[in-house]
Parts: sequence; C-alpha cells; structure tokens
Amino acid sequence: YQKAIVRNCHLPAETIDGYRVQVQANIELFEEVAAVLDHGAEGVGLYRTEYSYMNREILPSEDELFEEYRDLASILSPAKVVFRTLDLGADKFISGFGAIDERNPALGLRSIRLCLQHRDLFRSQIRAILRASLAGNTAMMYPMISGLRELREANRVLAEAKAQLRDEGIPFNEELPVGIMVELPSAVMTAELLAKEVDFFSIGTNDLIQYSLGIDRTNKHVSYLYQPLHPAILRSIKHVVDAAHQSGIEVSLCGEVASDPFCVPILMGMQIDSLSMNPQAIPGIKRIIRQTTMDECKELLRRVLECRTVTKINKLVMDSIFQRF
Ligand code: PEP
Ligand code: MG
Repeated sequence: YQKAIVRNCHLPAETIDGYRVQVQANIELFEEVAAVLDHGAEGVGLYRTEYSYMNREILPSEDELFEEYRDLASILSPAKVVFRTLDLGADKFISGFGAIDERNPALGLRSIRLCLQHRDLFRSQIRAILRASLAGNTAMMYPMISGLRELREANRVLAEAKAQLRDEGIPFNEELPVGIMVELPSAVMTAELLAKEVDFFSIGTNDLIQYSLGIDRTNKHVSYLYQPLHPAILRSIKHVVDAAHQSGIEVSLCGEVASDPFCVPILMGMQIDSLSMNPQAIPGIKRIIRQTTMDECKELLRRVLECRTVTKINKLVMDSIFQRF
C-alpha cells in the first residue's frame, strides 16, 4: 500500500475537479536533492540555507556557496528552487554569532535582523544566489520580515549586490523573483502593503504559530497549546492568501502545517498556490489532494471559519476525514 503511494508520487497534485496545487520540498542540505527527486516534489519551495553555515569552523566562501546553489538549481531545472536567505539565531546558531547574550533569543537578534547588522555576510550570500540564478529556475526570499521598512532595507542590500556584479561583468538574472516569508503577526497585518512590493509570499507557520499564540516552538511544557487549527492561525493564513491574490502574487505555505493531513484540505479551500514540506511527506499529501474536490475543501473551510474554538474545529476536521474513509 505504502509502495503504491510512493509509485504514484510523480502524478500532479490535482483535485478530482481539476484544481492544481504545486507540491514542493523543504530541504536543509544539498545532499537532500535525491530525496526531492525521488518523492515527486515539483522543486524546492524552501531551501534553509543556514545549515551550510552551521557545524563548521570557517564560514563558507561566496564561491563555495555559488557552486552549491548553481549545482542545486541546475540539477532541479526546470523545477524551481527558492533560496531562503540566512535564518540564523534562536534555534539555529553558527560559531561567531552564537555568543550573543539574549534573554529571549526567539525575540532577539536573529534571521533578517542579524543579516541587516552583518551586511558583508548578507551581501556575500545574496551575491552567491544571484550568480547561481541563471543556472535554473530560481527565486529568493527573506525570512522573518516584520514590515515594509525591513523589506526595503533588505532590498537595498540586494541592489548593492546587483550593482557590484554588473560592475564586475558577472551575469545574473536581473528579474530574479524576490519574496518574503510571512511568519510574524506584523507581516500578516500588513500583508496588503507587503504584497505590492514582493513577487511572492511563503507562509512560515512554524514561527507564525509561535509568535501569534505566544508559544515557544521548542518548549515541551507548552507544546499542547501549539495549535495549527486555532481560529487566529486559520484567519491569519486566509488573510495572507487573500491579500496575495488581490495583488496578483502567488502564495505558498512551507511550515509543518503543509504536511498535516488535517490542515491540507482547509488550505486547499483557501486556494493556496503551493505547499512545501519535508520530501518524505509529499507522496501522502499528494494522494490526499488527488482524492478530494475543491468544492469539498471550500465547504470545509466555510464551516471551519464559522467555529469559535479550536476544539470545535478539531472535531469538525476529524469528522470530515472519518466521513470520507
Ligand atoms: C516556518 O517558520 O514555518 C518555517 C518554515 O521556517 P523555519 O521552520 O526554518 O523557521
Ligand atoms: Mg521560520
């Protein structure tokens, strides 16, 4: 049975009534490229690039990063690879940056904030991504964007990197799509504004749940409160999807929620454009999508949004799954 699911994993993720969603892979290391190809992923929706910087004495050089990014893009071409710029700090440290004394690292100098304080580090990564951009179908996104000011600041570093490469006569894709991860409540609330200045959104529910519900994602004592189906989370995701579509940009979801069979039909009902998840989850999620209809998903979403509590939503979703099987 399991083998049959894996065998069918290269079929498109299309509902019975013809609604197509992209299903992509999240990876942390280049070596996972084989798993991406084997599990039917339509590209990489989230490359967590910080892992190439971790567990080593010396930071990777721009050339080393360029070669890694170029090889990944060309192996997967024409499928897309979305490079997320460095998301270090909090749970992900590298030597040299791990010694910051912070009481609340998750609320501290991490991710895009850290990059904007270490511009050389950030620019060298962006240069490597730009240099690899012509090797395949590539895109880049910034993590932990809190609002427009931060987005524009990051884009200034991108503009500097582009100007340098032009001066040096190094070719790159001038039209490289640039998106942001929506994983802070402030980005959710300003999604309409952000959507006008980016090419795509990718919703990071792992952090969005943490920051919206005030639950440390690594703290087992409060893990029972980490609830993807909380009305606040579902309303946030819907708000972001609608804001993206009103501005004519695509929206992906790359947190763990994308591989949660209980959440996927609801996300489909919102008309999410793509889901990105660990490669091993792809065959099962594609199978769920291929066995459902958009009408069913929209009806489930409508009923879920009428519920006032997470308990009610959990029950509704459970019932809808058991009714089907
Ligand atoms: C997220 O926050 O949902 C996400 C995909 O990024 P990470 O898990 O790497 O923080
Ligand atoms: Mg995140």
